Amino acid sequence: MDKVVRLARNRGFVFPGSEIYGGLQNSWDYGPIGVELKRNIKELWWKMFVLERPDMVGIDANIIMNTRVWEASGHLDSFNDTLIECKKCHTRFRDDDLFVYMLSEKGKPRSTNTEELLKELVSFPCPECNNVGEFTKPKFFHTMFRTNLGSIETPENTVYLRPETAQAMFVDFAEIVRVSRKRLPFGIAQIGKAFRNEITTGNFIFRLREFEQMEIEYFIEPPKTKKDWEKHFDHWLKEIKKWLDVIGVDKNRVKEVEIPKKERAHYSERTVDIEFQYPFGQKELYGLAYRTDYDISAHQKHSGESLKYRDPKTGKEFVPHVIEPSLGVERTILAVLLSAYTEEEVVSAKGEKETRIVLKLPSIIAPYKVAILPLSDKAELTKMAESIRKELIGDFSVDYDTTQSIGKRYRRQDEIGTPYCVTVDFDSLDDKKVTIRDRDTMKQDRVEIKKIREYLNKKLI
Ligand code: ATP
Repeated sequence: MDKVVRLARNRGFVFPGSEIYGGLQNSWDYGPIGVELKRNIKELWWKMFVLERPDMVGIDANIIMNTRVWEASGHLDSFNDTLIECKKCHTRFRDDDLFVYMLSEKGKPRSTNTEELLKELVSFPCPECNNVGEFTKPKFFHTMFRTNLGSIETPENTVYLRPETAQAMFVDFAEIVRVSRKRLPFGIAQIGKAFRNEITTGNFIFRLREFEQMEIEYFIEPPKTKKDWEKHFDHWLKEIKKWLDVIGVDKNRVKEVEIPKKERAHYSERTVDIEFQYPFGQKELYGLAYRTDYDISAHQKHSGESLKYRDPKTGKEFVPHVIEPSLGVERTILAVLLSAYTEEEVVSAKGEKETRIVLKLPSIIAPYKVAILPLSDKAELTKMAESIRKELIGDFSVDYDTTQSIGKRYRRQDEIGTPYCVTVDFDSLDDKKVTIRDRDTMKQDRVEIKKIREYLNKKLI
C-alpha cells in the first residue's frame, strides 16, 4: 500500500488536498496523471454501459435535491453510522469493522449476531492499544452533509448533499421514460459526486467523505417468479466481472460475497458485494442490489405523483422493479493501481541490478498511450519529435518529454503506465525511423516515421 501511495504522489496521480494549510482529513486531489486515469475510467464505463447499449440512457442530476427526496428514500431517518471509541487511546471504530476484527480473532465469539457481538466486546482488546474492555457504548451519527439553501438558516431551508447518485434516477423516472421512449427493461445511468460524513475515513482513497459513483438503476417488469429478476441480477453480475477484466483488476483478489438478510439495506431483497483484497483487508469494491419496487413506490407515495410505467402493448400500469449495480470511482482507481503495480529486477546499462517499477495498466485506461521522447533537446531532434507529436495527437493521448536522461524518462513512463515510448535519435534524422519501446517487454522496434500510427493502432487495440 505504501508503495502505491508513494508512486501515486510522486508521479502526480493523487496527493493530499489543501496541503499548504495542513491538509483536510483524508481529502485527496488528482494531479495531471491521475485526472487522465480517472477520466479514462469514467469514459470507458459510460461507453460500455450507456453508449454501446440500446437499453440504457444517462442523466446528470443536481447534487442538492429537495429534502423530501431523502424523507421518502429513508436516508433522513436511517442513514447512520455507529461509532465505538477506545477510552484509552481514543481510536474511533465503525461497529462493523470491530465485528470483522472480533470474528477474525482467536477464541472466536460464538455468535455473529450484532447484539451478541456488542455484549462480547468487553472481553476484547482494542486493536490499536491492546487495552481490554475499554470501549465506549455505541453512538449513532447521521452521515448526510447538511447545509442550507439561501442565506437564512431555517429548518425549511435545510438541504443535504446527496449520499448516493441513485435517487435522481428514481425521482426522474417518469420524465425519462417520456423523453427517451425506452421500453422495459431499460436502465438509467449516472456518474457523479456523492458525500457521506463518514465517522472514520482512511486507507488512502478507500473511504472518503467526498467521492464519485457510477451507478445504474436497471428497471424491469414486476417479476412473476424469482427467476424473472434473478436473470437480470445474474446479467449485471457478469457485466461487473467483464468490466473488472477490461480495466485490469486482478481476478484472484476479487470475491463475490452474498450479504445475509439481516445485514442488507432495508430496501434490498438480495445484495452481492464485490469485494477486493486490499492490503488492509478484504473490503467492498462495488455493490449489486435488487431494490425491488421500494424506491419508486416510496417516492410515489411521498410526492403524490404517479411514477407508474404504462406498458404500451397491454396498456397495464405498474411500478417497475430495480436492479442496481453501484460502483465507486475511487475504489476502482485504488483496485486498478494495486493490481497494476509491479516491481521487476533488471540490469542497468552499467551492469547493476536494479528494481524497475511498472504500472501495467491496460492501455485503454492508461493516462497516456504514447510518449514522444527526443534523445536530446537539440533543435533538429525536438523539431522532428514535435512534428510526430502533432501527427499523433488527434488519435492518441500523447505525452512529450525532453527533460533528464532517456533512462529516467523511460522510468517515469513505466511508472505512469504509458504502453509505448517513441524515441527520436540522431539516426532518425537520416533514416527517418524512430525506436518504439514496449512498456512491459522493454522490446524495441525500429519503425518508419510514416508508419508509427499504423504500428500503434495495431498494438493498442
Ligand atoms: P461501505 O460498507 O464500505 O461503507 P457501502 O455499502 O456503504 O460501503 P454503498 O452504499 O453500496 O456502499 O455505495 C456504493 C459504492 O460507492 C460502494 O461499493 C463504493 O464503491 C462506493 N463508496 C461508498 N462509500 C464510499 C466512501 N465513503 N468512499 C469511497 N467510496 C465509497
